Amino acid sequence: MMGPAHSLSGAAAWLGVGAAAAAAGHPMPWPVLAVGALICAGAALAPDLDHKAATISRAFGPVSRTLCEVVDKLSYAVYKATRTQGDPRRSGGHRTLTHTWLWAVLVGAGASALAITGGRWAVLAILFVHMVLAVEGLLWRAARVSSDILVWLLGATSAWILADILHKPGNGSDWLFTAPGQEYLWLGLPIVLGAIVHDIGDALTVSGCPILWPIPVGRKRWYPVGPPKPMRFRAGSWVELKVLMPVFMLLGGIGCLGALGVI
Ligand SMILES: [Zn+2]
Repeated sequence: MMGPAHSLSGAAAWLGVGAAAAAAGHPMPWPVLAVGALICAGAALAPDLDHKAATISRAFGPVSRTLCEVVDKLSYAVYKATRTQGDPRRSGGHRTLTHTWLWAVLVGAGASALAITGGRWAVLAILFVHMVLAVEGLLWRAARVSSDILVWLLGATSAWILADILHKPGNGSDWLFTAPGQEYLWLGLPIVLGAIVHDIGDALTVSGCPILWPIPVGRKRWYPVGPPKPMRFRAGSWVELKVLMPVFMLLGGIGCLGALGVI
């Protein structure tokens, strides 16, 4: 899928988690619902850091371009080192290491560890990166015509404001994990969810997605998970734009109302 569909599905997924949490008796304070949805929308672009044309690889100028090259090389090396007889040969790292459940969990756990040990600046940094991505993903066309610097400014100001809102007592810095010292531990959750939702979105497209790696399926360790071939679509096709994106918006809206206890 393309950036906007990935971001919308990420936001909808977190709002759905919000509805489930409310139903289970752990309702999210509204800032957790809103910030989590934005983080998840941004994190749902992150696995494409292995592709130089992807939104995330151009979102932070030379920093993300360099990181993209490193991640692509690392992914390709891991693919070559772990492929079995059944896995095809390939020429680059796109849709391999960063498109697995293990990568999602590692990145989310890393963000959580950073958030609880790094203090306010770590929380701000995590928010900044994901707000920039959320702006790029959700406001696709608008962000493309404006300059990178404007998007970074928007990301920085929203990160600053949201960090202040979350920090007020009762607003959810300690949502779900309430012991002292566990503030902002939950920040990793929308990051894991965003990456997994991205992988599921890619699995619906023609080439599938090796979500399960390193768990082998049959003779393949990089088994491309996906529905039967006739049910798959091409990235950027009308199914994605005219069917999936409206469905994600609708589901997100219903999830949001459920999470806030309206329905
Ligand atoms: Zn992808």
